[in-house]
Amino acid sequence: MAERISTPSRTKEIIEENGFYFKKNFGQNFLIDSNILDRIADCAGVTSEDCVLEVGPGIGSLTQVLAERAGSVTAVEIDSNLIPILAKTLADYDNIEVLNQDILKTDIDAIIHEKNQDRPIKVVANLPYYITTPIIMDLLENERKVDSITVMVQKEVAERMQAGPGDKEYGALSIAVQYYCDAHLDMIVPPSCFMPRPKVASAVITLKVLPQRKVAAKDEKMLFHIVKCAFGQRRKTLLNCLYNQGGLNLSKEELAEVLTSLGFDERIRGEALSIEDFARLSDALSQKTQ
Ligand code: SAM
Repeated sequence: MAERISTPSRTKEIIEENGFYFKKNFGQNFLIDSNILDRIADCAGVTSEDCVLEVGPGIGSLTQVLAERAGSVTAVEIDSNLIPILAKTLADYDNIEVLNQDILKTDIDAIIHEKNQDRPIKVVANLPYYITTPIIMDLLENERKVDSITVMVQKEVAERMQAGPGDKEYGALSIAVQYYCDAHLDMIVPPSCFMPRPKVASAVITLKVLPQRKVAAKDEKMLFHIVKCAFGQRRKTLLNCLYNQGGLNLSKEELAEVLTSLGFDERIRGEALSIEDFARLSDALSQKTQ
């Protein structure tokens, strides 16, 4: 195995040699603990059969570990100052491609097509925290061909992904994750494992995309539309959220009728509904608005 990029001394050296400055707005907290990096790759179950998409390689600490196990790694990095650094730190690997792009504007389907002939890939990342929700929602809602997603996120966001009805953190992200995946909290990672240290604890979570949904709504666009509507103003009743933001072209009375026909109290809030409840509501509303 080549010298690790991720040791605190080597990371510091790379940063200083290249006159690199951390950018807070890009969520740049680099991992400096080799054991954690190995464990992330273990949790992702990366093998030589796999094509991996990494979001935000930084100076290449996780990329290096992934490249030593995977068939190929495509790493998408927004910060152009990191591109010449990555060219040096990852020079010994011929199975890595670095793209200087914003992941939120990247054609992920084209990468999957080109690198893995449309077979499912694995996504592995120490995510910049400001894009956690949009990137996870993009992968899931657009049903990208992804086998699993193993990501470092803020501990609180990992908890949100696993929250259920009645939990304070329960919301649209919890529902999307649990609708499409089995979620497993792999480990909690303290701030001391990063350079610079973030203010809060982090967690690694693996989302295994289910081949078949446990609960299926007939119209998934409708399902996620009403979920977003219900949590957009979570202190309001579900009826008011649907009436004010639903754009469903139904009167308040008609909406109330749908809710009561499903056994819900008219004053219920979205946060009390399970995924199964949302799927039933979505099916009933689809039928009513057809
Ligand atoms: N993977 C490295 C590690 O573990 O040490 C760096 C992780 S750091 C938390 C997040 C990385 O994502 C940074 O390199 C940052 O520049 C990059 N990044 C931030 N926003 C991005 C975006 N929209 N698209 C692609 N990369 C992004």
